[in-house]
Amino acid sequence: MVVEQTCSRCVMDTSDRDIDFDSKGVCSYCREATRLLPKYHFTKDEEKVNLAKLADTITKRRKGEYDSIIGLSGGVDSSYVAYLAWKLGLKPLCVHFDNGWNSEISVSNINKIIEITGFDFTTYVIDWPEFRDLQRSFVKAGVIDIEMLTDHAIWAAMFRICRKNRIAFVLTGTNYTSEHGMPRSWLWRKQDLRNIKAIHGQFGERKLKSFPVMGSLRFAIAESFAIGGTGLQPLNLINYRKTEAMEVLKTVFGWRYYGGKHYESIFTKFYQAFILPEKFGVDKRRAHLSALIRNDEMTRDEAIAELAKPLYDLGDLKQDKEYVLKKLGFSEQEFSSFIKAPPVPHDFYPSDAVWIHPLMAFKKRLIRSGFIRGNDSEQ
Ligand SMILES: [Zn+2]
Repeated sequence: MVVEQTCSRCVMDTSDRDIDFDSKGVCSYCREATRLLPKYHFTKDEEKVNLAKLADTITKRRKGEYDSIIGLSGGVDSSYVAYLAWKLGLKPLCVHFDNGWNSEISVSNINKIIEITGFDFTTYVIDWPEFRDLQRSFVKAGVIDIEMLTDHAIWAAMFRICRKNRIAFVLTGTNYTSEHGMPRSWLWRKQDLRNIKAIHGQFGERKLKSFPVMGSLRFAIAESFAIGGTGLQPLNLINYRKTEAMEVLKTVFGWRYYGGKHYESIFTKFYQAFILPEKFGVDKRRAHLSALIRNDEMTRDEAIAELAKPLYDLGDLKQDKEYVLKKLGFSEQEFSSFIKAPPVPHDFYPSDAVWIHPLMAFKKRLIRSGFIRGNDSEQ
């Protein structure tokens, strides 16, 4: 892909087809962040008030043994949510999702956190032959968001666990300061069950029996009307700085960094550092580093130096590629023909996009009128 322009403030470039630049060469994401980031910057006193309110909301709704649920991946964001919950004296159930790709470091991080916080912990194991079949289908289909399978399953399973245990809230690691500015063209809606079923229906080889699913409408209803499993975003209530959060986690829990955003999963690392750049011309580090630049956690020069480093150490790439292909059951030749084939948009296959976009627009109107509550990104 020919790179035509890079933002003068961050490191986003025209590898995102929707980006635009103003007369000073500043990209659309930087302009949006200038408007929205101040909403996520707080004084120490404001943070205290926000967290006290959060703890109050959560503990008041406790009906059973737990007041909330935390999906713990061992990554920075979810680990820091567990740290906050511990400081606030909450009683969450921590759930780890095992989709077959966990790295040793993620499991070790989780164990350390659980040992010190004393939180109850359970592992939700996704049926591997089914998950493998789904991942194979997505690779064959040529669509970009192979990771939506994990995200969909995590959310659907969380709602299930919430209902079963009468838990009202899911504490998520979602945060604006380190995650804003992710191009839409690099992702698909995680709740789009119709798209998952359509792709799997065309390319899958086995029936799905236990893979946790939930339709777009049920997601929307559960979220909007606080029917068990309403997502709360504690990291958006504090002055969240990823670099500082990592230092706290290292000191308090002996937590270890795994070398890249979401690299706590071996598949995710291979997906972000090989599949995305090779097949789709996408280097997600650009979006992650740009968010850190806008939040004053890194300079543009530091980000440029980081981008100049290879995505993969050659030895690691060989080893990870062999591991991933063997686990997914692709031959080298078969996989390389998928990588070389042109990308296919998600909505080439049946999808909820045709009705969910108008519905979401309607939902935003209801939120603005005060009829229903929305999360931060919907205000
Ligand atoms: Zn920019």
